[in-house]
Amino acid sequence: MPKTVKYETEVAIIGGGAAGICAALDAHDAGARTLVFEKLSEPGGAAIISGGGCCMVGTPLQEKLGITDNPDLAFDDWMKWGGPTADAEWARFYIEGTRNDVFVWAEKHGVEWVDAKPQEGNSVMRWQRAAKSGLGLMTALIASYRKQGGQIIPDTQISALTRDQNGRVVGFEGVDAKTGDRIEVQAKAVVVASGGFNSNVDMVLEHKPELRGSRIMEGSGFGSTGDGHKMVSSVGGYLTHMDHVWFYVYATPDYRDPKQRRGLVFRLAPGNIYINQQGKRFHNEALSGGNSASPALLAQQPRHAWAVVDRAMLAKVEISDPYYRQADEPLREKIEELLDNSPFIKKASTLEELADKIDVPRQTFLDTVARYDKAIDDKLEKEPEFGKPLKLSKKFDTAPYYAIQMFPLARKNFGGVKTDKQCRVLDRHFEPIPGLYAAGEISGMAGGHINGKAGLEGTMLGPSLFSGRVAGGWAAREAGHGKGFVGKPNRG
Ligand SMILES: Cc1cc2nc3c(=O)[nH]c(=O)nc-3n(C[C@H](O)[C@H](O)[C@H](O)COP(=O)(O)OP(=O)(O)OC[C@H]3O[C@@H](n4cnc5c(N)ncnc54)[C@H](O)[C@@H]3O)c2cc1C
Repeated sequence: MPKTVKYETEVAIIGGGAAGICAALDAHDAGARTLVFEKLSEPGGAAIISGGGCCMVGTPLQEKLGITDNPDLAFDDWMKWGGPTADAEWARFYIEGTRNDVFVWAEKHGVEWVDAKPQEGNSVMRWQRAAKSGLGLMTALIASYRKQGGQIIPDTQISALTRDQNGRVVGFEGVDAKTGDRIEVQAKAVVVASGGFNSNVDMVLEHKPELRGSRIMEGSGFGSTGDGHKMVSSVGGYLTHMDHVWFYVYATPDYRDPKQRRGLVFRLAPGNIYINQQGKRFHNEALSGGNSASPALLAQQPRHAWAVVDRAMLAKVEISDPYYRQADEPLREKIEELLDNSPFIKKASTLEELADKIDVPRQTFLDTVARYDKAIDDKLEKEPEFGKPLKLSKKFDTAPYYAIQMFPLARKNFGGVKTDKQCRVLDRHFEPIPGLYAAGEISGMAGGHINGKAGLEGTMLGPSLFSGRVAGGWAAREAGHGKGFVGKPNRG
């Protein structure tokens, strides 16, 4: 028989991912009693399966790698890339906080930053990765929180915020997914850090109605189903820029998912080419980011592509999903299992046969591949049609040939709950709702829309960690502890 379990704390946090754990760490650090409620059986959220890369500026790692960077340069890149809907104030706040309040702070909690990678839109390399990617990052932060006595309560699905007669948020309620018990939580301040909504394709289509009728893949963490957005808006929180959904192109349906809604992200060898249903290439495949490849794929009719590779090109393929990798190591046997069994992957011993299997006009497809191969034979630096550099490409000459059907994958939410710079949730009059904070992807990573329409990469996890800290600091302040979030901005 289900019963009601009651909890009382000072700062109560919904969601144990990047923002939630950082909020808990800062609130705890300020002296507040904290509890984190996580709906899944393990904390970590999308962050723990993420690439673990953060966009950070002027860091010791950049210095070690000989990269000269500064907040002004990063801010210019950010605003150019994200366009007019990027939130300049939050972008500046975050960028200046990255060195001390993300990089150095995370190190103090056991995170090791190991390397950097170039990303589209950045004038210098500033995407920096934690050891063992998101798994290493989140394992360290969670361990640090627990070591200090911090508590995370798993399997607790929170469904509604509770308010007193003055409209102040004073807690929330939900259910224990294991026992069926009702949960009631009372707190002095509440931080909602429940992540995005890209693992709920119905919600994606609600905000992107123009994509209805096309297959769109779910691609965020398993818990990112938009629960927090509903809870916050039902108490008057303002949702903004909800149509800013960041798509990637390199996903094929997970055939093991009974609903086949979840997408598996392929990291393909650079030699692959994308073919539309008309049998033609349509893009420079070397530009695979959300601001270049995704609009190109979304413009195709129908909205999918076939990534064509030969056997040799598959040697380095990776799949960014916990089933297909252990920490940073791809599990080759599992990848072969996918190649052999997925109905979305076709295999053929000749290119002619492959064209027939994917039902594209045979001659057009053969001509497309032949032109690409000829550019390689001619030793061109770039193929002439779309300007793809050929340095890392090879001819299509090693059977069997594969075509992997790729659909747009909704990965990150660049819009969400509007907050001020203390992460207080704002209502439609831009007034704070007492007792309520939001951080991380539920708030478009930070503030509502820090990235604008496009992200420089590393601009999801980084701002989620940062805004989590900001929310935790100020929530603790509201509960009577500390001075609010006091960062150490690097003004360059
Ligand atoms: C595969 C992948 C790779 C990525 N790689 C990168 C990268 O390298 N760099 C980058 O910048 N970004 C990356 N991202 C994005 C980044 O991981 C997220 O934007 C970030 O984790 C958001 O942090 P968050 O705390 O808001 O949400 P999450 O980390 O998703 O945490 C939210 C938590 O809330 C829980 N929750 C949800 N609803 C409820 C509820 N009702 N009750 C209780 N708990 C609830 C969820 O289960 C989850 O644990 C990646 C995302 C994915 C999916």
